[in-house]
Amino acid sequence: MTDPTVLQLALPVPLPQVFDYLPPAGWAAEQVQVGQRVRVPFGARTLCGIVVGHGPAPDGVTLRAVEAVLDEVPVLQGELLASLRWLSGYLHAPLGEVLATALPAALRHGEPLPDITRRGWVLNEAGRTALSAMRAGKPKALASLLAEEARDERQLDAALPGWRAPLRALRERGLVESVALPPAPAVAPAAMTLTPNPAQQAAIEAVCAARGFAPFLLDGVTGSGKTEVYLHAIADCLARGRQALVLVPEIGLTPQLLARFRARLGVPVHALHSGLSDGERARTWLDALHGQARVVVGTRSAVFTPLPQAGLIVIDEEHDGSYKQFEGVRYHARDFALVRARALGVPIVLGSATPSLESLHNARSGRYRHLSLPQRAGQARPPQVRVMDVRKRPLQAGLAAAAVAAIESALQAGGQVLVFRNRRGYAPVLLCHDCGWSAHCPHCSTPERPTAMTVHAQGRMLQCHHCGYRRPAPPACPDCASLALQAQGNGTERIEDALRERFPDWPVLRIDRASTGHRDAVQKHFDTLGARPGILVGTQMLAKGHDLPGLTLVVVVGVDEGLFSVDFRSGEKLAQLLVQVAGRAGRADRPGEVLLQTHHPDHPLLQTLLVGGYHAWAEAELAQRQAAGLPPFAHLALLRAQARQQDPARAFLQRAKDLLAAHAIEVAGPLPAPMPRRAGQVRMQLVLVSPQRPRLHRALAAVVPALYAAPEARRVRWSLDVDPADL
Ligand code: ADP
Ligand code: ZN
Ligand code: ZN
Repeated sequence: MTDPTVLQLALPVPLPQVFDYLPPAGWAAEQVQVGQRVRVPFGARTLCGIVVGHGPAPDGVTLRAVEAVLDEVPVLQGELLASLRWLSGYLHAPLGEVLATALPAALRHGEPLPDITRRGWVLNEAGRTALSAMRAGKPKALASLLAEEARDERQLDAALPGWRAPLRALRERGLVESVALPPAPAVAPAAMTLTPNPAQQAAIEAVCAARGFAPFLLDGVTGSGKTEVYLHAIADCLARGRQALVLVPEIGLTPQLLARFRARLGVPVHALHSGLSDGERARTWLDALHGQARVVVGTRSAVFTPLPQAGLIVIDEEHDGSYKQFEGVRYHARDFALVRARALGVPIVLGSATPSLESLHNARSGRYRHLSLPQRAGQARPPQVRVMDVRKRPLQAGLAAAAVAAIESALQAGGQVLVFRNRRGYAPVLLCHDCGWSAHCPHCSTPERPTAMTVHAQGRMLQCHHCGYRRPAPPACPDCASLALQAQGNGTERIEDALRERFPDWPVLRIDRASTGHRDAVQKHFDTLGARPGILVGTQMLAKGHDLPGLTLVVVVGVDEGLFSVDFRSGEKLAQLLVQVAGRAGRADRPGEVLLQTHHPDHPLLQTLLVGGYHAWAEAELAQRQAAGLPPFAHLALLRAQARQQDPARAFLQRAKDLLAAHAIEVAGPLPAPMPRRAGQVRMQLVLVSPQRPRLHRALAAVVPALYAAPEARRVRWSLDVDPADL
């Protein structure tokens, strides 16, 4: 065998192969290590790629050479690189795209590794002189802190939240200086002041006793003290000299949560989320790679943090939808975290008040150890939940008179009210306001599992997106002959306006994606409200996260679309959302009340939830999923295609279907996507189902390379989603 003379590179391009390049002039191939970043010419462009192997020179091809090796040491190595290779295979996604997704943006774009010397700021001479004359306020508070001693950003996070803007002001006035600091001193952990209750104690002992890969489902109602269990397990991990990674949902990573971790753990806690600059993210990533970061708390993409001394992984709210990436490399952070925990040989704790059916199934079958925290910790009592039948009642901006009355008495009693609008599922469903009838597909519905038809063509047509069946929308309700048929949809803004008009003397704050661009904006909204009585109107963003101790009433509207959505997971999402949002009420010593406003008071989902709680509902749903051959009892992949016209999209998916025909998996489609048209693009999909995961993956492995090469692929934009979250 000849010596390897060629470098194999993973490049961030949507092509499935790795690429051969010669080493840079004057280098031998083996001088460049796997995991190092390189800069290469690619067509007319320059790309940053990762070395993933060495190989012999292919015959008869002239190769281009690497322009530069960017790192002294590999940035991707060991377990992380191996796990990412696995992920590329599992998602049938190009390795180059997977590796690029895993790297922080600055490193992905080929920027040099940032300096991770700890830096801080200190007040200079001019600053000391100016200090006494400064008016009271944040800049002065910051200046006083920096007069005592130099502090880094983590110390400032802990001492003075919101310090960045004042720091900028002080720097502009030339009053502070940036200085290099010695490695951060470990702070003595604050005493664990709460004595764990017996259920918490059992959970803590089980996790701390685990050695090697050990998955746990920590199943505990909101407020049952799961975070306390994480903190004890992390403290134990730190005491063993290991690193801990904590994943939290996008909306769960609040300043409150970070402050709690920082106060309790006695080591710097590194946060990783989309609100940081590229430079900050790259530094934290490198800090973890060099073992300087001991605890990393982050959202979805933090699952790619290097953990050379891993000891524990925690996934808070493991059921949360934000763990799934919806674009590009469509990974699921929880699932990938499990893969990494296995490869790293460490325990992993999945915590939730409303575990995903996948995780419950894994716990039932013994793959995960099931730890339960059945009661709220401390004094808090569970809220009272009431279903409010609104059939034939007049609604004002979607709210019934009884709900408005309940809001009024809660406000007058000095409480805070959350009006929660469930907006999941964009496909509008046709509903009769008088009797609750809604349009179902005759070909896809069973008595237990009605499948809604969606409204198209400005309300004139109904279509089933599972089988494609179409029919005109009826002029009147087939059950009660009422003409009050409506495509459901009442946005938070309309509710906000109506509430403002009705309750002019109380503050009404709307919190949703549109009103809160920035992550800290939610906190600002809460701060404005403070402890005053008032009304919050919002969507999912309010289901979880910030503590709202003054909350006494939760009104949930828009439940009905979730009850009859087209997606088989919509029931699960709705049940989780309802339980989570109900859990917001009465967290402190006040009892809370929850009102569910619905046209379907007898719907099995609501009844089961109300009578038996989330777990009773989940048991029933698991049985139905099993009968219907749906996840977690079957495995899905979704092939999507979009184009300006329908024909190319259909032709591409039909081609895929033909290729898949030899592989003994079930294929449904090509069919319109739930949102069949977006931004001028016609969107279609093909659903792949198999009861056996390996069979699905063998089929994909055989077919996906051919899809890249298919002539039909050139006329569409297509993507593959393994384990899709939405159908
Ligand atoms: P979860 O993460 O399950 O929502 P937390 O850990 O945040 O629960 O705990 C909810 C509240 O109960 C917090 O205010 C916490 O301080 C308190 N708490 C947790 N464990 C205990 C305990 N053993 N004794 C008293 N209070 C506790
Ligand atoms: Zn009717
Ligand atoms: Zn159908």
